[in-house]
Amino acid sequence: MPELPEVEVVRRDLEREIVGRRIKEVEVDGMRTVRRHHNRKQFITRLEGKKFTGVDRRGKYLLCRLEGGDVLVVHLGMSGQLLRAKSSRETRAKHTHVVITFQQGGQLRFVDPRTFGEMFVTEYAGVEDQVTELAHLGIDPLSRAMSWEHFGYLMSQRHSKLKSLLMDQKFLAGIGNIYSDEILWGAGLRWDRSSDTLTAQEVRRLYRSMMETLQDAVKHRGSSLADEQYVDLYGKPGEFQFHHNVYAREGESCPRCRHTIVRLRVGGRSTFFCEACQV
Ligand SMILES: [Zn+2]
Repeated sequence: MPELPEVEVVRRDLEREIVGRRIKEVEVDGMRTVRRHHNRKQFITRLEGKKFTGVDRRGKYLLCRLEGGDVLVVHLGMSGQLLRAKSSRETRAKHTHVVITFQQGGQLRFVDPRTFGEMFVTEYAGVEDQVTELAHLGIDPLSRAMSWEHFGYLMSQRHSKLKSLLMDQKFLAGIGNIYSDEILWGAGLRWDRSSDTLTAQEVRRLYRSMMETLQDAVKHRGSSLADEQYVDLYGKPGEFQFHHNVYAREGESCPRCRHTIVRLRVGGRSTFFCEACQV
């Protein structure tokens, strides 16, 4: 599933590729992707003829701003891909649900085999109030600057295991299974430490590891794993998986202390960590 870094890579690609382009035609296959609308026509007519003016991100939601005050909101879900096609003649991938054709030529396509992703158009002003999920999103570590002291204060107010807190979308937006494991390894902290037991030094290490891990992941264009579908706007997989220290590396030796990395199943998901140097 794409996490914050992957969605940020797509946002940057979109900014380069769609801003300034005017929509000529929109095709929608089925209602699943545009399920928040009453019908396809309602989605299509708010887009056709409009020009994209900018691309923002709130957590894992992409906000493609349109002239006239509307915004096209995109969530990639589990397996969604936004792909740029240079021409309408390029073969469409299976499970292409939405195709946006630009007046200047070229297309933006939304491919989503598992259909957990979605697209909808709404007013940009007050979008946080209209979309419940946005209203309750926690701090976005890639877009909102926060001091480590403030981060430490927020942690100390909670009594949760570190991994679940990092993954709590109402606390921090966009961190999932991969990056929580990588962040905690970077900080030398165990997944099950309670958030209100950290020393100031540990808070600082955790904060620094979170920022560095997420920024490095964006630099390496996200993580693409064998069983998952993340690719960038140009259809290329990311390369950060080659820089993972613990995630999906059980049995290998820890890059820091050479102890063996273990995998635990907790609450239906895997947790990877080093029992020796994460405390
Ligand atoms: Zn270790």
